Amino acid sequence: MTKKLNIVQLYPNDMNIYGDWGNVLVLKKRTEQHGFQVEIINYNIGDDFPTDPDIIIGGGGQDSGQQKIQSDLQRIAPTLRHLANSGTPMLMVCGLYQLFGRKFTTHKGEVIPGIGVFDADTIGGQKRLIGNIQMQSRQFGLIIGYENHSGQTYLADSIEPLGEVTLGEGNNTSDKTEGAVFNNVIGTYLHGSLLPKNPKIADFLIEQAARNKYGDFTPTKINDDLAEKARQAAAKRPR
Ligand code: GLN
Repeated sequence: MTKKLNIVQLYPNDMNIYGDWGNVLVLKKRTEQHGFQVEIINYNIGDDFPTDPDIIIGGGGQDSGQQKIQSDLQRIAPTLRHLANSGTPMLMVCGLYQLFGRKFTTHKGEVIPGIGVFDADTIGGQKRLIGNIQMQSRQFGLIIGYENHSGQTYLADSIEPLGEVTLGEGNNTSDKTEGAVFNNVIGTYLHGSLLPKNPKIADFLIEQAARNKYGDFTPTKINDDLAEKARQAAAKRPR
């Protein structure tokens, strides 16, 4: 019997800009290459939350998209926190990264509550942090992407950033941290899309999902020459 992994995409109708869909496509393709059947389940406002999520992925959005989803997100927050605490792998980019923190205060002063998976607060600023970005990460080495946000995120001391920025801004303009990691949940500002240029992160999510569901994981050797070329080209771009 072919093993199967379910990939749940959070709020694709409202939180899916700057190429976030590319992350889902890479996850699907690589999960198949590693020998699994894949089902992509789109979760939008008002839906029943999927019963068997193996990987959860969420993208960026405008402040208005974040406002639109906020009450529904609070409705499913206990489920998401439970899954995060029990090791479900997740990738949250930009707007949903902010809402996986404690709260996002927009530049207009409106407070959008987060779900508190990350001990982090985000404050909207006037300046947008835009451009190519690179960071060094303990788990994944060099991570390459593109950032576009005005919210600045500050992590509590207890929480590990995803990496240390070597080009660009990251979480905020002051501490050179980027993203956050809690259990198998990764939050990051990197768009671009992230996973085509950083397949190690995709494989991490797939491996955790496979271990959670089936107890083991035997990776397939995937030819990543094209991803490597994309990384090299992206790494040469100016800020
Ligand atoms: N609205 C948020 C900000 O600008 C998130 C942006 C995004 O998801 N790209 O900070």
